[in-house]
Amino acid sequence: MSDWRQDAECRDIPTNLFYPDAHDKDPYVVKQRWCRRCRVLEECLTDTLNHEARNPGGRHGIYGGMTPAERALLGGRQTELIPDPRTTTEVPF
Ligand code: SF4
Repeated sequence: MSDWRQDAECRDIPTNLFYPDAHDKDPYVVKQRWCRRCRVLEECLTDTLNHEARNPGGRHGIYGGMTPAERALLGGRQTELIPDPRTTTEVPF
C-alpha cells in the first residue's frame, strides 16, 4: 500500500504552521504556499474528512487545503464537488 504522505508538499514543513492559533493573521498563507500546489491534496482531504467523521470534535489544523471551519461546512459532501485549489486561481472559500 502506498503512502500518499511521501508526496505531500508539506512533508518537510514544521507542523505548527498548519495549526495557526486564533491570533494568526492569515491561515490562507499555508493554503496558498503548500496545499495549493500539493499533488496529494485530494488524498489528504479525503483521509482528513474520514478521520474527522470518526472523531467528532477532532477537527484541527489545515489539511487538504482547508481550515477546520471550512471542512465543517462540507457536512459530508462529496469531495469531488470541491473546487481544486491546484487548478483555480483562488483558494476556495
Ligand atoms: S494538502 Fe496541504 S496539508 Fe495536505 S498533504 Fe498537501 S500540503 Fe500537506
